Order: sequence, then C-alpha cells, then structure tokens
Amino acid sequence: DLRSWQREVRAQFPIFSGQPDPASPEPAYLDSAATAQKPLAVLDAVRTYLTTTNANAGRGTYTWANRTTDLVEHTRDRVKEFLGDAYPERSTVHFTGGTTEGLRTIARDWLPAFLSDGDEIVVPVADHQANILPWLETQQALARQGVHVRVRPMPYQAGSGDYDHIALAELAGPRTRFVAATHVHHVYGGDMNPHRIRRAVGPDAVICLDAAQSVGHLPVSVADLDVDFVVFSGHKALALPGTGAVWSRQARGPAFAPGGWSGTPNTAGIASLAAALDWLDATGLDRIERWTVALAARLTEGLRHLDAYEILGCPLSLAADSTVQRRQGIVTFRHRAIDSGDLGFILFSHGFMVRSDSHCQGSAGEKTDSVRVSLHAYNTREEIDRLLSVLHGLQ
Ligand code: PMP
Repeated sequence: DLRSWQREVRAQFPIFSGQPDPASPEPAYLDSAATAQKPLAVLDAVRTYLTTTNANAGRGTYTWANRTTDLVEHTRDRVKEFLGDAYPERSTVHFTGGTTEGLRTIARDWLPAFLSDGDEIVVPVADHQANILPWLETQQALARQGVHVRVRPMPYQAGSGDYDHIALAELAGPRTRFVAATHVHHVYGGDMNPHRIRRAVGPDAVICLDAAQSVGHLPVSVADLDVDFVVFSGHKALALPGTGAVWSRQARGPAFAPGGWSGTPNTAGIASLAAALDWLDATGLDRIERWTVALAARLTEGLRHLDAYEILGCPLSLAADSTVQRRQGIVTFRHRAIDSGDLGFILFSHGFMVRSDSHCQGSAGEKTDSVRVSLHAYNTREEIDRLLSVLHGLQ
C-alpha cells in the first residue's frame, strides 16, 4: 500500500537518516516549495560525474569533455521525455539556475521579438513575483523603443486564489498574444488548470507556464497541456540547488534559442537533474501526487476543526469534480491572534521547518503574512498529525 511505499521512499533521503539529537525535537521538513531534499541516487550521480568525468561541455577533443557534452544532450532529451513531449525533434530545452532565471530569459531574449505595438499580455499579478516582474520589465523596455504593449492583469476568483477563467475569456482578444500563468500556486496550493486557461484565451496566444510547484510533484505532460513554455526549478524537483530548465514547444512565434554553447553550463547540476528525473519516474509521480495531496487534505481537514486558524485560498481539500480546483501539497494558513512570524518560530521550537512570511507573492495577492506547509514524498502522516497537535495546543 501507499504507506509502505512511502516508508521506502523516505529511507532513500540521507538527510532524514541522521542520528536524532535526543535533546532536540524531531525535525520535520515542511518547506519543499522553497527547495526539496535530495535522494541518495541524485547525490551518487553527482559524485560519480565529478569523480569520473568532470570537464567542460560543448568544446571537447577528449573523452571526459565529450562525455560531459553527451550528458548535457542526454539530459535535454530526458527533460523532454519526462514532460511527455510527443515532438522532441521540434522542441528545445534550455538549462537555467531555476524558475526565476527561466522566466527572465524568456522575457528578455524571446518576448520582445514576439510582441508588436498594440499587443496585450496577461500577467498573473497575485502569483509569485518571479512570474510578474520580468514581463513588466519587458513592457517598459519596449515602451522606451516606442512599442506599446498593454498589460492585462490576470483576473482571479475572490477567496480561492484560482484564476477567473470566465473573466479571462472576456478580456482575451485577438491582440492578447502572450499569457503568463502558473501551474500550481505556491501559496494557495491550487492547480490553476492550464486546460481552462487555453480554452479561455483561444488557440493562438502563447501560454508560458510557471511549473515550479508542479514539475517533480505530479505528472506534467506537454502533450496534454497546450502550453508553449514550461519553466521549472530542478532544485524543487529533487536535483541540486542552482538547477532548472525551460522547455519550449517552438510552435508559436520566433524560435527560443538563448545562449547555445556559449558559457560553461552547470554540468554537475545537469547530472543531478537527469538522476532526479529518473528517480521521480521510477518512484512514480502519480503515487507522489496521491501521497502529497492526501497529506495536504489531512492537514486542511484537521485545521478546519481548529477555530483559531484560517486557511488561505483553495477551499477544497480534495476535488473529484474536475471543475472544482484541486489542492496539491501546499497548505497556507494563519492564526487569528498569533503573528505568523511568531507562529513559525514556535513551530520551529517543536522541530517544524515551515515558511512564515508573505512568500514572494505579487502585490495583488493577500498581503497578510502566513505560515506555509509544503510537502513532498518524504513527508509522513505522523509529521502532519504531530503538527496538528501542536497547532491545537496553540488555540
Ligand atoms: N515560481 C513559483 C511558483 C515558485 O514557487 C518559485 C519558488 N518559490 C519560483 C517561481 C522561483 O523559483 P526559483 O527560486 O527556483 O527561481
């Protein structure tokens, strides 16, 4: 069953297998939306690469350099396969240091060539700032050249944090050429439903998906999602810090081809990304999703019975009905009387590592600070139950 599978999964993360300090509370890592822990397979792949093959890529006349070039090319193919890309000969994968850099690269290197005077772009103003600021900067840079692009703020449904797809359909017109969107919201935890975004904006607009909280957490298939860019952070998908990628369909607009082989790529990070994707596929993204969704549901159910707490966004813990927003493994809440910074501090005194601030959310989102619990396959039911019992004690 899922629980014995989970025990085996957790055992593969060395960070959880250290000797517990009897004087300290048991540590519980609940901040995977910031960055994820690494399975042994990923650490081993990095060590093997650095101790057998380390060289620069793309310019070699000797074996290590050629193997490193092959590793980079293999990982590009691996990313396409992992994302269910049915036309890998058309698409491209560009490696980055994370989602922020990926979005920024599209905004700087690709978007200006795509837009013309009078075009409109949709910007998700209550999502992560990394998915807001680069688009506004592009608009400003174009304006200085006399190209005027109108920014349309993405409409949201009050309360849930979900997009208002009906209002989006109403605002989208023939000049709406680029839509920046998020796959899973990093504060509200809701699946923002890319299918409904595509239906709302029509077949011609480019959709750029910030998949920082979905890739590595649930199956993401570009064959299924009609989006043009998928941007993610390798480090949130169990690879090393300083990793990420942009997948580009190359179907609408000019080619996305930043950089090429100019500059030294993060080869050890790329080795870690290939190993992380292998590990995720072998472990099963469907099971990882089921586990983290179930833990998040357990936490929201528990919190709902504690009057002192208010859960932000996505009101439903589990939604069988596909028209209702589904919560992934992120639950954000606040105490009606205790400041969230203080609550985070109290929770850490019980061993819980959570995020407690305003989570880099754009200014159109709710501004009050809150505590975010974000989960991955290594988290346990016991951690959630222990957290709920501490939260209960603070009522
Ligand atoms: N977008 C979203 C939705 C995120 O959750 C994050 C990370 N918090 C980012 C972008 C930025 O990712 P990175 O720090 O890897 O650049």
